[in-house]
Amino acid sequence: MADVTLTGIRKSFGALEIIKGVDLDIRSGEFVVFVGPSGCGKSTLLRMIAGLEDITSGVLKIGGVEMNDVDPSKRGIAMVFQSYALYPHMTVRENMGFALRFAGMAKDEIDKRVMAAVNILELGPLMERKPKALSGGQRQRVAIGRAIVRNPDVFLFDEPLSNLDAELRVHMRVEIAKLHKELKTTIIYVTHDQVEAMTLADKIVVLRAGEVEQVGGPLDLYDDPANTFVAGFIGSPK
Ligand code: ADP
Ligand code: MG
Repeated sequence: MADVTLTGIRKSFGALEIIKGVDLDIRSGEFVVFVGPSGCGKSTLLRMIAGLEDITSGVLKIGGVEMNDVDPSKRGIAMVFQSYALYPHMTVRENMGFALRFAGMAKDEIDKRVMAAVNILELGPLMERKPKALSGGQRQRVAIGRAIVRNPDVFLFDEPLSNLDAELRVHMRVEIAKLHKELKTTIIYVTHDQVEAMTLADKIVVLRAGEVEQVGGPLDLYDDPANTFVAGFIGSPK
């Protein structure tokens, strides 16, 4: 678990400013959801927290430590993407343990961590299968498993469910809520789906064109939106 704080975070690609001064205070153990229309900068913001994009200006801290120039592998984070590329030639067990093996962890410890993740995600019966013998939802669970075994302080999710069909999305939403309850880690979760945001979040951050429009609990935003943009985005049933 760790606090994540963003102070005056900006990002430019060439002359174009994409993130325009974001201040955020994310508490340890909180489930925070970034919402906003396509292109508003959700992924860019998440990628800066992960260390996959440089921060143009501002300060990022995780667990109280400035992270601007810290290598992604040393930030205590694990990220799950929308397109979950599993290694096709490896079993579920091998896929989950690979990064740890690569990092030189002892086999006993790897086995222990993989088993713990497998239990949380109920992947036991699928351990020796290869990705092509799994459904979309099962593959996404393996991708989440690969993040869990790293024991991160902070999970970053970028639209992890948007490639799944509607029924599976609902199921996985429940799985992710359960995961947060069991692991009690900080989660920062990007989606453009209001329902996902409303059901998962302790706190929702509404973004528009690289700026924070409003931060609040799901009901706060629903009952008392700061402006018509937030009202339209959060309130309008799709
Ligand atoms: P979202 O995830 O909210 O859909 P993104 O963070 O992916 O938005 O993108 C925000 C804006 O930044 C978009 O206009 C996108 O085209 C632009 N952008 C993202 N990555 C790059 C890049 N590497 N180079 C130039 N522009 C980028
Ligand atoms: Mg995105």
